[in-house]
Amino acid sequence: MQAALAGEVIPLFVLDPYFFAPARARAFPHRMQFLLESLRGLEAALAKLGSRLLIVEGKSVEVVPRLVREWKADRVVAQRWVEPFARKRDLRIAQALGAKFELFEGETLAPPGTLRSGADRPYAVFSQFARVFRATVKIGKPLSRPRRLPAVPGDIRAREDGIPTCEQLGIARNAAVLSGGEDAAMARMEHFLRDGAAAYAEQRDRMDLAKTSRLSADLKFGTISARQVWKAIESAQGNTACARAFLNELLWREFTHSTLWDRPELLEKPFRLAFTGFPWLYDEGQWQAWVTGKTGYPIVDAASRQLLGEGFVHNRARMIAASFLCKHLLMDYRRGEAHYMKYLTDGDWAQNNAGWQWSAGCGCDAQPYFRVFNPTTQGEKFDPEGDYVRRWVPELARMPARYIHDPAEAPQAVLQAAGVVLDQNYPRPIVAHRFARERFLAVAAQHLKRAARA
Ligand SMILES: Cc1cc2nc3c(=O)[nH]c(=O)nc-3n(C[C@H](O)[C@H](O)[C@H](O)COP(=O)(O)OP(=O)(O)OC[C@H]3O[C@@H](n4cnc5c(N)ncnc54)[C@H](O)[C@@H]3O)c2cc1C
Repeated sequence: MQAALAGEVIPLFVLDPYFFAPARARAFPHRMQFLLESLRGLEAALAKLGSRLLIVEGKSVEVVPRLVREWKADRVVAQRWVEPFARKRDLRIAQALGAKFELFEGETLAPPGTLRSGADRPYAVFSQFARVFRATVKIGKPLSRPRRLPAVPGDIRAREDGIPTCEQLGIARNAAVLSGGEDAAMARMEHFLRDGAAAYAEQRDRMDLAKTSRLSADLKFGTISARQVWKAIESAQGNTACARAFLNELLWREFTHSTLWDRPELLEKPFRLAFTGFPWLYDEGQWQAWVTGKTGYPIVDAASRQLLGEGFVHNRARMIAASFLCKHLLMDYRRGEAHYMKYLTDGDWAQNNAGWQWSAGCGCDAQPYFRVFNPTTQGEKFDPEGDYVRRWVPELARMPARYIHDPAEAPQAVLQAAGVVLDQNYPRPIVAHRFARERFLAVAAQHLKRAARA
């Protein structure tokens, strides 16, 4: 927008059926709710500055060139996106508009695909990528907000469709999902700077404390930019261990976007090709137990229920739950990836795919396949009092901390006092940890050996 401020400006948002057809929108209800709220915020912000957001329904590849002709626009500016559908769409619009079409950066801190190793290859190791990023990329100050925008010329006509509501798209509004919009993003940022940023390094893994920034959906939708967040942390925290730990996460975000830019095929294929044809299993009952949070592993169950309940899962819980699905239950990471994409408000192709491939052990700089999280000890370590579990698995709310992550091991008297009846109001583990770990290691070792010989 800043790039186009000279002359007349017509802010346009296209409701492309690729996302906004009700059947498509219902496939990601929380993100759609967040997006609609963000759009309403944008509409109000533009009106305050003297402009007007035009909302038009139709395929962007048709609508944009048609309106450019009708309005005799001499430039079209938009933000570039990493996601493969968007890249194809933007290419088609560029073909139709030629030099009039300008994509600008902003989704990431540096344009994806620009950092290259000595051999002119994309980095495949995060620490190398991050080192080179810090040494070479200069992150400039975010531009200040415009004070006023030129009014949309009176002769501009379009069949304006207005921002749909969740109900019009057939989505039941979920009050527990974060509010969308720039004001909400700024409020989250300020809250994190006041309460969370200064203890981030020590507390970021604690699922019970929930002291991370919760800016992921804002970064995904651009209601705050990575540059704004980077600069705000730097100026509030300087070069403390907490600032470095937090900025490192923004660099993980950067790394995943760059990786998907260079390797769009990752949305279909594992990064480590040796994992192709991996003998995943599928068991409908176990899948449903994982989805609904009834595996008998309280920390895994809390993660699943948090996802459905509020469209968010703490990062440590995502890692444990994803590892459990892929390794304990031997289920294809792509099933979990698609389920998370459906319900996460921050669901992002690059980050979600990287997170799932990392957890399965087949991704770019992934967790080694032979490291299998023990969900019980992970829970004990990162939810020591069990408060995260108590919040999301209320049937265990009265269990003492000592047994809350392993209720099947609790003495009968403890279960009785907590009102827990195993296999009646809370299940025993659907698979034993030791058996599951050994099974995964044996299956993976055998598969990878065969792949290496082929
Ligand atoms: C299986 C799995 C799936 C994931 N899917 C997504 C997803 O769809 N969208 C998404 O934004 N993140 C995803 N992540 C990464 C991470 O879990 C979330 O970014 C984080 O939990 C968001 O909470 P926050 O904003 O409070 O994070 P903070 O700890 O405050 O971190 C600040 C920002 O850094 C970025 N970030 C943090 N951790 C990571 C990471 N491991 N990889 C990449 N970027 C990171 C996010 O943009 C985040 O908002 C996934 C991780 C896993 C293990």
